[in-house]
Amino acid sequence: KPRLYSGMQPSADSLQAGNYIGALLQWRELQNSYDAFFSVVDLHAITVPQDPAELREKTRRTAAQYIAAGIEPSQSTLYVQSHVRAHAELAWILSTITGFGEAGRMTQFKDKSSRFGADATSVGLFTYPVLMAADILLYQTDVVPVGDDQKQHVELTRDLAERFNSRFGETFVVPIPVIQKDTARIYDLQNPTSKMSKSAESDAGVLWLLDDPAKSAKKVMRAVTDNEGSVRYDRENKPGVSNLLTIYAALTGRQIASIEDEYAGRGYGDFKKGLAEVVVNEFGPVRERANELLADPAELDRILAANAARADEVADKTLADVYDRVGLLRRV
Ligand code: ATP
Ligand code: MG
Repeated sequence: KPRLYSGMQPSADSLQAGNYIGALLQWRELQNSYDAFFSVVDLHAITVPQDPAELREKTRRTAAQYIAAGIEPSQSTLYVQSHVRAHAELAWILSTITGFGEAGRMTQFKDKSSRFGADATSVGLFTYPVLMAADILLYQTDVVPVGDDQKQHVELTRDLAERFNSRFGETFVVPIPVIQKDTARIYDLQNPTSKMSKSAESDAGVLWLLDDPAKSAKKVMRAVTDNEGSVRYDRENKPGVSNLLTIYAALTGRQIASIEDEYAGRGYGDFKKGLAEVVVNEFGPVRERANELLADPAELDRILAANAARADEVADKTLADVYDRVGLLRRV
């Protein structure tokens, strides 16, 4: 089977609807046709300040949500990034073949660093894409499913793989990004032109996977719409309603047109009530399963350890090869 790699940052207690629709639902499908590696990327999360105790908890919670959403840890390799030391080690090697200007062109860094200011921006945030390249290349990954926000980072990964291969000999598979369709992109319910995100400034427009169902329903009912009053997809002129239609379609597997038909001639109130029910029905069981897993953290930690051991096997092999090729003296 071809190999697949993807991950998420443990940057909140709960994942949000965009992570679920844009990533987890697709991962669940893809894990059947790929040898899949899914990581909770805690080393990436610390590129911005994190509270240590909270980070540990968020890492477990993120892993629990992967499993609760249907990632099967006996089939896919589901592990915590920092458990596999090779990530940090390969990132160092790759940083030595990455151009300073090349890294400086990454738009995510430019966005995030301008938000924090130069003094509050870490070097780790700058080298984030190099660590991401290491994540992917360690597993000889064929495909990387990502949102379009990550496309530039996968391009850098490909450049680094090709550069290393031509300088030191064939070592890495050059991965292909699989960019999610636009219909898998979820926007903030209060601000439907910016993407829903775990680390949004206000969570009024964020649907949390683990939230109390009544709260999620309320957020759907309060979602921003428009004055037209007709349930119709028009991303340009009706971003709010279009976003709700996208969520509805993604969670039910229905076509947007069929949902438009169902609600033709009815108001937004009815439509939102319908969507609230869909959200509660879909997230409810995931939430329950996640809470069950979190009630036994020792068992969860054991699952993660066993999966990390599996990841180690592949990663260590790549890393040993890399060390040899760049001329690091073997420790005997
Ligand atoms: P943060 O705000 O901390 O960056 P995030 O919600 O953007 O968190 P990430 O951990 O950066 O989440 O991304 C995890 C995965 O979820 C990635 O594959 C990303 O493309 C996807 N994703 C994140 N937000 C959305 C969204 N609004 N719609 C669709 N997919 C999303
Ligand atoms: Mg993000």
